[in-house]
Amino acid sequence: MSYYNIAVIEGDGIGPEITGAAMEVLRAVGEKFNLRFNFNKVLAGGRAIDEVGVPLPEESIRACLESDSVLLGAVGGPKWDSLPGHLRPEKALLGIRKELGLYANIRPARLLEELKSACPLREEIADAGFDMVIVRELTGGMYFSESGRRNGSNGHEAFDTECYSEMEIRRIGVIAFQLAMTRGKKLVSIDKANVLESSRLWRETMHGLAKEYPQVEYSDMLVDNASMQLIRDPKQFDVVVTSNMFGDILSDEASQITGSIGLLPSASLGETKRGMYEPIHGSAPDIAGQDRANPIAAILSAAMMLRMSFNQEAAADHVEAAVSGVLASGYRTADIAPPGTEAVSCSRMIELIIEEISK
Ligand code: NAD
Repeated sequence: MSYYNIAVIEGDGIGPEITGAAMEVLRAVGEKFNLRFNFNKVLAGGRAIDEVGVPLPEESIRACLESDSVLLGAVGGPKWDSLPGHLRPEKALLGIRKELGLYANIRPARLLEELKSACPLREEIADAGFDMVIVRELTGGMYFSESGRRNGSNGHEAFDTECYSEMEIRRIGVIAFQLAMTRGKKLVSIDKANVLESSRLWRETMHGLAKEYPQVEYSDMLVDNASMQLIRDPKQFDVVVTSNMFGDILSDEASQITGSIGLLPSASLGETKRGMYEPIHGSAPDIAGQDRANPIAAILSAAMMLRMSFNQEAAADHVEAAVSGVLASGYRTADIAPPGTEAVSCSRMIELIIEEISK
């Protein structure tokens, strides 16, 4: 029997519904594979602001640091939108990433066979299918480098800078190359090396790493071209590695072409096995508490945790197969149900997946 301590940040909006789903699924798969999970609910985000006045209380950080991994729903909502930056729920996410040293964000974007009709791309592109993983650098670049306001020659101005060290580029590169080795052995690094000095260092460093992984077919692509290629021919991508800002934008683009953001999981990783796992979508305040959320992204996030942090490959495969099985049987939540067809509720979808797991 293996035991795991999981810190659970339910968060706001649909967060409690979907993290509840992930916990139920972990319990069910644990029964089958002899795994035990201890879930420790941790306060962060808008609820933490309401209850204790800050988005990420010290004791929540401690609980995450003491856990084997963190499962997050989503944080934020209109209620907290007018608060100053340092008190916004999203600060909790940046805080956890920093405290846990999570510098790599891993986002699979796969077009499920059962959901090809939901893909917004031309039919022949959807028919070809795609299955890629975007590895985004998470703690450097534009979002963390020097920025500010000042008086310039044209009056009041604002600036943001992009700074990357070789160390930061190398460590995200290693994660991407290693991931490529476990998949199709193909890696594309996306940058803007024709304009940005930080991208030129990025490219040089990636080329150096490529020599250490001769089995991986490596290439570079400029970000403007990559944004076109993603919708023109997504099948060409296996693993993609890119900077914080480019990854932020491209991973949303990649998620859209899969048909629903309610389906996509993500992992944030650092030097240790401890990661943070969360759906890519937000707290969906418009459907919170209505039993209409799609729990699949959160459930697949739990599967990623089993695989990437706990090395429980078979259990992860089993959860993913159960999700595919339920979708193949035709069940859909409202976000992925074709117009005019009947949708199942969030709780019914959870029941169906658990039944499939326990078969
Ligand atoms: P969102 O992802 O919450 O919602 C966008 C649309 O997708 C909405 O119509 C919503 O109903 C739908 N949707 C999202 N997840 C769904 C699911 N699982 N099932 C069915 N439908 C789903 O994005 P938003 O509306 O831009 O943001 C809402 C709040 O979430 C904001 O406060 C934002 O800051 C926050 N947010 C948090 C995170 C995070 O915690 N990681 C990420 C993104 C946004």
